[in-house]
Amino acid sequence: MLNETIRVAGVIPECVVNAPGGISYVIFAQGCKHNCPGCHNPETHDFNGGREWKVKDLLIDIEKYPLSNIVAFTGGDAFFQPNSFYELAKKLKEKQYTLVAYSGFYFEELIKDGARKKLLYEIDILIDGPFLQKQKDRNLNYRGSRNQRILDVKKSIEENQAVIMKKYYESMK
Ligand code: SF4
Repeated sequence: MLNETIRVAGVIPECVVNAPGGISYVIFAQGCKHNCPGCHNPETHDFNGGREWKVKDLLIDIEKYPLSNIVAFTGGDAFFQPNSFYELAKKLKEKQYTLVAYSGFYFEELIKDGARKKLLYEIDILIDGPFLQKQKDRNLNYRGSRNQRILDVKKSIEENQAVIMKKYYESMK
């Protein structure tokens, strides 16, 4: 399983802006079919772009940066590679990392899809929903448009509904 590959557009090993809660190792997943008009990372859409990393090599690289106790999956969208990201996420949770994922899918869609649900269950914080230009707002933390939410995944699963993490919302509209 650790030999599974993930298609990656790039990584930022120590980042203070991409994930709520602290310093994160950010993985930009390569491949996205949401095609949100105005997307900031169109170069991550092509499923043949970027490069392949073995899960085990990503793990080795992540552990080189002990300041990053959060790992963030952004993109692209990791939920288009749910099986290999699940293998990585499972190992990271065993090592006590906090996992943050950005997705163009909403929580309610992810929870209904077998493979995506399995990955979702490993995630701690989900920033969900497509980027919608009509709801674009530069004042939001971690989100580009007002439809997107910052969710506590464990509580959302427990309560079977999306539970937002108010502490990360600086400007609620
Ligand atoms: S989900 Fe994200 S990466 Fe994909 S098209 Fe929308 S904004 Fe771009």
